[in-house]
Amino acid sequence: MVRGEVKERVAALAAKGRTVGLATVLVGEDAASQVYVRGKHRAATEAGMLSFDKNLPVSSTQQEVEDTIRQLNEDPAVDGMIVQLPLPDGLDGNQAVETIAPAKDADGLHPDSLGRLVLDRPGPRPATPAGIMRILQHYDIETSGKLAVVIGRSFLVGRPMSLLLSVKGVDATVVQTHSRTPDLPAVCREADILIVAIGRAHFVGAEHVKPGATVIDVGINRTDAGLVGDVDYDAVVDIAGAITPVPGGVGPMTIASLLDNTVGAAERTAAAAGD
Ligand code: NAP
Repeated sequence: MVRGEVKERVAALAAKGRTVGLATVLVGEDAASQVYVRGKHRAATEAGMLSFDKNLPVSSTQQEVEDTIRQLNEDPAVDGMIVQLPLPDGLDGNQAVETIAPAKDADGLHPDSLGRLVLDRPGPRPATPAGIMRILQHYDIETSGKLAVVIGRSFLVGRPMSLLLSVKGVDATVVQTHSRTPDLPAVCREADILIVAIGRAHFVGAEHVKPGATVIDVGINRTDAGLVGDVDYDAVVDIAGAITPVPGGVGPMTIASLLDNTVGAAERTAAAAGD
């Protein structure tokens, strides 16, 4: 649905003679990162965007990574860009993301974008939490007056997720939890909406879930049994009122948000040029 809307917006810009371009910066040869980046390019192409693939060797220096980002900042064909995280050991992912021109921040993770989120001002929203908000909206999951528990406080997922859930108009009451939270299962059992972003296979079980709760599983863990989430799906599915699967739940919506941020950036450029 979102991707269809994005495609229409890309086509509307094309009708004005404008292309929309998404660039990815991938450093090293981590197999999972390569899969994610390929998925992003495939989705961009399907939406009618141009996609630019910058692959740098694992031996790259911070300076080389940032120089590549600066070149993309200057490239008028690039409307949005992401740096695939995490970067290899020895490189500073946060510093790399800060090098992205805020206007081209497709992942919504630049400090400028995160500041806009805190201030509840317009701007690109972090792609994974924004994708989760779309899931909640699409399935008419009530947030106002509900208790949402978020497990994980990363700047990539957990923290911005808590902010998006608590803004005016969404109006959830949010409990932000982490590895130091005492008696996590008891806290989680209070949740009407439980968002799990930890990175530990099948960490959340029946003891964490209130009957009828909505459970959103962000985790992606590679195991001998294949890709699994942070939630033990089989243990929880009959207790939860709704639950997202892994793979196939949050991941595709993250990509949809990335495309939405990119076409939004292109629309702002076009508007600024008077198109
Ligand atoms: P992260 O930066 O490693 O953060 C993990 C968070 O989980 C931390 O805040 C940590 O708490 C918390 N945590 C760890 N063990 C815990 C425990 N025993 N009890 C409670 N909290 C605990 O990970 P991330 O970047 O947020 O990613 C989380 C997962 O989501 C990963 O599996 C990642 O692959 C996946 N992911 C998926 C998508 C998607 O599109 N589907 C996108 C991004 C990430 P402390 O802060 O106290 O250490």
